[in-house]
Amino acid sequence: MAESTPVRLPDYHTHNRLCQHAESVPLDYAREAAARGVTELAATDHCPTDDGFGREHRMRLEEFPTYLDWVREAQAMAPIPVLLGVEADYYPGCERFLSGFLARHPFDVVLGSVHFLDYWARDPARRTLAHAPDAGALWRAYFAHIGSLADTGLYDVAAHLDLPKRFGNALAAAELREAALPALDRLAAAGMAVEINTSGLRHSPLACYPSLELLAWARERDIGLTFGSDAHAPERVGEGFAAALELAKAAGYREYRVYRGRRPEARPLPGC
Ligand code: ZN
Ligand code: FE
Ligand code: FE
Ligand code: ZN
Repeated sequence: MAESTPVRLPDYHTHNRLCQHAESVPLDYAREAAARGVTELAATDHCPTDDGFGREHRMRLEEFPTYLDWVREAQAMAPIPVLLGVEADYYPGCERFLSGFLARHPFDVVLGSVHFLDYWARDPARRTLAHAPDAGALWRAYFAHIGSLADTGLYDVAAHLDLPKRFGNALAAAELREAALPALDRLAAAGMAVEINTSGLRHSPLACYPSLELLAWARERDIGLTFGSDAHAPERVGEGFAAALELAKAAGYREYRVYRGRRPEARPLPGC
């Protein structure tokens, strides 16, 4: 759906065809972004690993130089700023490879995600965030990972913070609060931001990640804010940003963050 008035915000969550489930290259996303009034674009494709974690969802390590070339091409040719980013999974043991890898390359922004409870588990109920018989146990395990993600100090922005809702897993508000607040405290202590990820608007939750209540709890803790479409095709860039801006304001945010070289800077939200 086309949005009548362009919303002037950056899109800090986009993919490309190196991850094997997205289309096109960063320059195409950046050109589409500029045409839609998006102010800057971060390429944040799924980060490579050296241990086989999630290999079917990401570029191979040997392909990372191609990614760097594509981002540099977009930086040289696009009419808006293009940032070098990555979406890196947190999982126990990821620090061994990730800490050195992130330090070796000139990233502007690093998204941290939890897509699996235990990627290597044989039992499907312990592996993914799919609908679980015990939703409370799933959310507690998920947010324990988010807390550990924050504690590594390796990431700037927590991506799609309540991703388990994509698969149902409905939970009473009090139970969600109990599971989420310790993780939010650890995100705040790490100086991190959360993103409003608009991809949920076109998937089963039919709502942004995270929910208004989680976002308001993040705001109370002075956790920063970014925006991301999680586009896997250029025509998705900036999608749903009018709704995202409303959500940010409803949660009490008046500022968002831009990043350069992994340093955040605050900017006023449009209309604030
Ligand atoms: Zn993806
Ligand atoms: Fe993700
Ligand atoms: Fe993503
Ligand atoms: Zn994502």
